[in-house]
Amino acid sequence: MSFLASNYKRRNLSFKKGKGSYLFSTSGKKYLDFLSGIAVNTLGHSNPRLIKALNAQAKKVWHVSNSFQIPEGEILAKKLAKKTFADKVIFVNSGAEANETAIKIARRYFYSIGKPYKNRILCIKNSFHGRTLANIFASGSKKMTEGFGPKVNGFDHFNYSDLNSLRKKVTKNTAGIFFETAMGESGIKVHTKKFLREVKKICIEKNILLILDEVQCGIGRSGKFFAYEYAKVKPDIVPIAKGIGGGFPIGAVLMTKKVSNCMVPGTHGSTYGGNPLAMAIGNVIMDEVFKKGFLNNVRKNSKYFLGKLNSLKNKYPKIIKEIRGIGLLIGIQVSVDLENFINKLTQNKLLTIRAAENVVRILPPLNVKKKEIDIALKILNKVCSEY
Ligand SMILES: *Cc1c(COP(=O)(O)O)cnc(C)c1O
Repeated sequence: MSFLASNYKRRNLSFKKGKGSYLFSTSGKKYLDFLSGIAVNTLGHSNPRLIKALNAQAKKVWHVSNSFQIPEGEILAKKLAKKTFADKVIFVNSGAEANETAIKIARRYFYSIGKPYKNRILCIKNSFHGRTLANIFASGSKKMTEGFGPKVNGFDHFNYSDLNSLRKKVTKNTAGIFFETAMGESGIKVHTKKFLREVKKICIEKNILLILDEVQCGIGRSGKFFAYEYAKVKPDIVPIAKGIGGGFPIGAVLMTKKVSNCMVPGTHGSTYGGNPLAMAIGNVIMDEVFKKGFLNNVRKNSKYFLGKLNSLKNKYPKIIKEIRGIGLLIGIQVSVDLENFINKLTQNKLLTIRAAENVVRILPPLNVKKKEIDIALKILNKVCSEY
């Protein structure tokens, strides 16, 4: 009997250690980890630089609270600002918290410039932004909100990739258009550059903030540091989490100076957000992801992987319906039972995770080796051939 509540459907598998792209189970088996704790373990398991930074900081100071200056956080915020659109950063602890903070900032911005009626957030129907109350109602998903009423107001929804639907939902009350630059949980759906540019145009025209959730697709997952870079659009607010901590819980909201001015003392806070231990780790992730060739290598491996997966699709058209993805955020939409397919992969020592629309999500660590991708392809081929 477990004393853990039953809000997760857990696989009957546990691990005693991890190294690079591999996890070793308590029963002594070796698994290729191609879900990376859901796009979290950017540098795989037991990365020596992360271990070193964690240990070094652990011996100095873990936590002091945001009543004080935190030099490690100043450094990380500067790194994030130098490499992105952002001028200012607020640190939090998770993706859901980063998204809630982003929503607060958008509303507070319009309040601060004398337009408090601009307070509605326009999101994609059946999207995913985390599990807190505001975020589940932002998702416009019946399944996620069922039984959790009363409804949190202030969210409108448009249909995925549908600019006409979006235009119809914009009103004078719209403060922000808020969606994932490349959608993970909802089925690995990548917006076209054209879509992103058109949305940006609407935002400029109607004085609306563009809020891009890069919690899953950010931090190099897409092959660029941020997925929006492909379209060369400039967002106003970008919540991040997952990959920036490499396994340590870190969230952050990046924003322009214009928007950040409204966040005066007292408007937001988080006890743990940006503590020295978290910041020491985030700094290593940033240094590694921006090492020469790192992101280039993600793109190279992505091209190789996606190419081979498309060949596999052509070989097994009755099993694989579509290959989706950008960078190392990859989806295989299958025509067979999803859970069964994922279980078969697990039995063959390849760990993946589901996404909506009957999609197998593949999220290797960003420093995955080509030969590990080849092993995964071999397992995928074997599982497909056994149907
Ligand atoms: C995972 C995820 C979240 C929620 O992050 P948590 O850290 O679980 O709160 C929000 N948005 C997106 C796009 C995500 O993938």
